[in-house]
Amino acid sequence: MRCWRILPAIMALASLAGPAPAAASDTAIFAGTLIDGTGRPPQTGVTILLHDDRIAAITSGLHAPAGAAVIDLSHETVMPGFIDCHVHIAARLPSRTNETEYRLTHNDINRAFDGAVFVRQMLQQGFTSARDVGGGDWTTAVRDAIDAGQIPGPRLWVSLEPLGPTAGHGDEHDGLDAALSHPGWDNGLVDSVDEARLRVREHKRRGATVIKMMPSGGIASSGDDPRAQLMTNEEMKAVVDTAHSLGLKVAAHIYPAGAIENAVRAGVDSVEHGSFATAQTFALMKAHGTYLVPTLTVYDVFYAAARDTPELLAPGTAKKELANDLLPKKNLKLALSSGVKIAYGTDIGEGDHAMEFRLLIDNGMAPADAILAATSRAADLIGAADRIGSVQPGRFADLVAVSGDPLTDHALLDHVDFVMKGGLVYRRNGAATEADPDAPK
Ligand SMILES: [Zn+2]
Repeated sequence: MRCWRILPAIMALASLAGPAPAAASDTAIFAGTLIDGTGRPPQTGVTILLHDDRIAAITSGLHAPAGAAVIDLSHETVMPGFIDCHVHIAARLPSRTNETEYRLTHNDINRAFDGAVFVRQMLQQGFTSARDVGGGDWTTAVRDAIDAGQIPGPRLWVSLEPLGPTAGHGDEHDGLDAALSHPGWDNGLVDSVDEARLRVREHKRRGATVIKMMPSGGIASSGDDPRAQLMTNEEMKAVVDTAHSLGLKVAAHIYPAGAIENAVRAGVDSVEHGSFATAQTFALMKAHGTYLVPTLTVYDVFYAAARDTPELLAPGTAKKELANDLLPKKNLKLALSSGVKIAYGTDIGEGDHAMEFRLLIDNGMAPADAILAATSRAADLIGAADRIGSVQPGRFADLVAVSGDPLTDHALLDHVDFVMKGGLVYRRNGAATEADPDAPK
């Protein structure tokens, strides 16, 4: 398994005997059609030249330079690898796991093993990058293992515990006996401006590359109200200013219009969910360049769980799920007509990360815009557009391909045939390759 990792060791040994030739490799990918993620129209019959893990050039016509390996996707549509801007790598599907039991019987190491499985699924689904907005030490551990080549998975940008107030959406104590506590449950609690600064700095020290905060209540949690703003404007501003001063972006989970507007004025980079936003809210977001990550997937997933297996959800949350299921879809139309920038995000770990394509498109987004949301717009939100999200020279060789035209048949996005990350092929002809032969389905 993963014989390709032996090569660097051999090269290292060889180098002891004297200067070795550079371990460079050139690959030519013949693309029948290329949707390059920049928003320009699809190009037909182009060759994508790769040098090691990067894209070197794009040329018209199908021809390979001497010595280059060839990957023939001349009957496929090639796109940049997809990016999911809202994941929780270790989150299990709510229809399969009792949330309270899981919380009380799984430690961070158990979660890391779950995460290691779900990131492999994500990669097989075509997601070569993702942003985890609410995890813990297991998230940075899985990120580091991927970066070190120990396990396959997407490039990860990770926050740690979401920052929010006592009794807020991120307060792990909610719904349980108030006498229970656990080291780590308070890592995200923010009840003052000073605490906001400290938490951001602590999270940076522990390896966070993005900061998540929860200024409003939420739905899949006990005891808090999704229509209430729970952080003060000053606390939000302290989180944002401290994060930005450290070079970190801020993703904010928010539902109510007034709280979104306050967070936008405080300078957040993205509003996650944003379900109760009004036309005025979206206009303000547009004026500030704030992204919306609608996360329609998680509503469908939790709505089905609330309807079919309510006993598995956190105490008291099934009612909230059933009451709020339609709002995000209704609000997507308003968001689209407002012209606010939208990035792709599912808010799941285990499960089908391509589901958001179906939901965005079925609720009014053009397929070309859904692909942009999951490529260059997502890369822009993450702050990595110079490395990921488009097929241009200098970007990582992160590519997916489907057998047909996803602009006319968007169901193709559910089943990518081909996945490459950093020049390494993880999926080909609709099946996992020797790079990860046992990839979970
Ligand atoms: Zn989330």
